[in-house]
Amino acid sequence: MEKRPFVTLDKLTEITKDIPTPFHLYDEKGIRRNVEALKKAFSWNPGFKEFFAVKATPNPFIVDILREYGCGCDCSSMTELMLSKAVGCGPGDVMFSSNDTPEEEFLFAHQMGGIINLDDITHIESMERVLGCVPETVCCRYNPGGVFTLSNGIMDNPGDAKYGMTTDQIFEAFRILKEKGVKQFGIHAFLASNTTTNEYYPRLAEILFKLAAELNRKTGAHIAFINLSGGIGIPYRLDDEPCDIFKVGEGVHQVYDKILVPAGMDDVSIYTELGRFMLGPYGALITKAIHEKHIHKEYIGVDACACNLMRPAMYGAYHHITVMGKEDDPCDYRYDVVGSLCENNDKFAIDRMLPRVDMGDLLFIHDTGAHGFSMGYNYNGKLRSAEVLLHEDGSYELIRRAETEKDYFATFDCFPFYKKLGF
Ligand SMILES: *Cc1c(COP(=O)(O)O)cnc(C)c1O
Repeated sequence: MEKRPFVTLDKLTEITKDIPTPFHLYDEKGIRRNVEALKKAFSWNPGFKEFFAVKATPNPFIVDILREYGCGCDCSSMTELMLSKAVGCGPGDVMFSSNDTPEEEFLFAHQMGGIINLDDITHIESMERVLGCVPETVCCRYNPGGVFTLSNGIMDNPGDAKYGMTTDQIFEAFRILKEKGVKQFGIHAFLASNTTTNEYYPRLAEILFKLAAELNRKTGAHIAFINLSGGIGIPYRLDDEPCDIFKVGEGVHQVYDKILVPAGMDDVSIYTELGRFMLGPYGALITKAIHEKHIHKEYIGVDACACNLMRPAMYGAYHHITVMGKEDDPCDYRYDVVGSLCENNDKFAIDRMLPRVDMGDLLFIHDTGAHGFSMGYNYNGKLRSAEVLLHEDGSYELIRRAETEKDYFATFDCFPFYKKLGF
């Protein structure tokens, strides 16, 4: 597969005159076409709803675009709940899929009409204590244990994952919750991450649909929705095959008809909590080449660092790089593309073949739209970058300003030291 930037060099040059590099740039057109496709792929299910995993790209301007298509928000913390409330999420619009949850967050989620997704059976008690009641609708997170396999091998290892309830526990939880007066139930599981095979959701759906039918039969609980959570991946590498969301939707449809319909459960809504799939390909880190170094290897130093995009340093993740304006030049130079952190893993690429990079060249680091900016941090006193939205008509908008030194020192404002900084 070929990877082309969603912006031209001319447009980027125009933006960088106004907003200095580095920054994350998002492609509104790509975001819209993709959410439209997702909705179409699941249109066979009248109750279908995507709850965007806010942690992937916690920017209200981005969430607002998805809200136009009826998406809700999947939240895991107080600030994500606050963001969702601020963009107008009301009853039924928030899935609170948290774990190791502070009690007061259950209360906040409940008060804004969010659906609580219980990660553990002990949370029934803490939720009831803090709410003073049980909500009418409750979701439980499931962990089947063992290893999760698809036809191309082991995908992940739920037996080692901290999330969810065991099979025995989820039956017990449903009985307890039903007795306490819960009317509508949901089931959730997240068993593998960044899967580009079309098989993941249908296979997960099969496991959850069978469980739902059995839970319904044995406890009498009414299961209103099944939440397939996140996990659909994107092609980071040129030779990764992208998933076909229409095949994924149809695959889930088939198991729905095979398992839920004969069980008399044809009113179950399908929910998703996608993050990477919704935004990943529609964001890029834009950075400028500022140093070249010729020692035992050839290095290109850029003005971004791992604080702006942690995935390569953290998991050795591949992010494709385009040198803007040199899209069709031969890749006959071998470089390590690095940031300035005092950590030797601060490398966006190792031994990457690229066209010759000249100082001042703009680099487009692909697929940073999800789990990119949001995983940023302040090590070495680095400041978080800006985020910019490229609109469909070619205009652009600053949707988050870059952090300043003043922001960095703000949490020292109660110390005498702060005054010497002169802000
Ligand atoms: C992270 C997360 C998601 C989103 O995962 P993606 O891999 O971005 O699709 C969804 N649900 C929960 C509970 C998560 O923790």
